[in-house]
Amino acid sequence: MQLYTLKSQVEISINKTISLKKTIGLVPTMGSLHHGHLSLIKKAVNSCDLVWVSIFVNPTQFNNKQDLNNYPKNIKKDLEMISKISKNINVFNPKISEMYESKLKTEDFDFQNLDKELEGKYRNNHFKGVGTIVSKLFNLFKPTKAFFGEKDYQQTRIIDRLIKVKNFQTELVICPTIRGTNGLALSSRNNLLSLENKEKSAIIYKTLIYCKKNLPKSSFQKIYNNCKKEINSLNDFELEYLEIVDNETLKKVKKISANKPFRIFICVLVNGVRLIDNILVK
Ligand code: AMP
Repeated sequence: MQLYTLKSQVEISINKTISLKKTIGLVPTMGSLHHGHLSLIKKAVNSCDLVWVSIFVNPTQFNNKQDLNNYPKNIKKDLEMISKISKNINVFNPKISEMYESKLKTEDFDFQNLDKELEGKYRNNHFKGVGTIVSKLFNLFKPTKAFFGEKDYQQTRIIDRLIKVKNFQTELVICPTIRGTNGLALSSRNNLLSLENKEKSAIIYKTLIYCKKNLPKSSFQKIYNNCKKEINSLNDFELEYLEIVDNETLKKVKKISANKPFRIFICVLVNGVRLIDNILVK
């Protein structure tokens, strides 16, 4: 495994790879890696000649300073985990000043309102920050394929749109959500939970399963009220949203039709820690 911190070094390596006509896989992460990230890296290793993992806590996608400051970091352990997968992976771990000049300037994108739904309602300019950093990374790495997790499904819709508007020659690969034994989706933010709250957070995925099972029989309003009551009755837990949306546009679904896939999204604040998950209903 080779560690890079400078864009100029990456450029030299990428130009060499491209001149050899080798395929490049990119896995963008914010570090504090877990088995969810590792599943993306493994998939990249299995389908690309050379894999780059970026580890960068992108300040422009945080609307909340405290959330940014609290974001877990563990670069030493991250590098150990990556090198166990394959020696043939490069890691890019730049400083903020390497990715942003003096100001933390973001770009404007036409995301066709995908950025206004769900997380977008609660995290001002979050997807503008995501689009800006992913765009910078795509320009730098010119990846043949880029790997993202279904856990952040709204983000994958944003990247899909970004590829179209910026005409990137990159294939978006969406990888399934990896969960703990209690069903909780793995997330770097889980490190911020107490052991007890981590166990209790199993309710998040259970809620999605409950919704999927009961939607055909009961009204969503009724299901929503039950779920909200149950979640909010737990100490430290607060339901931020629970929504049924179109799988492509992410717009709220008013009436469920049998032949159109939709997705149920949930966000729960656990002692202020933001946990999100989603499930597809076909
Ligand atoms: P992050 O470091 O949280 O920005 O995540 C980096 C990438 O890993 C994103 O594409 C995430 O969607 C993906 N990811 C995070 N958690 C999981 C998980 N539990 N299963 C699969 N992919 C994940």
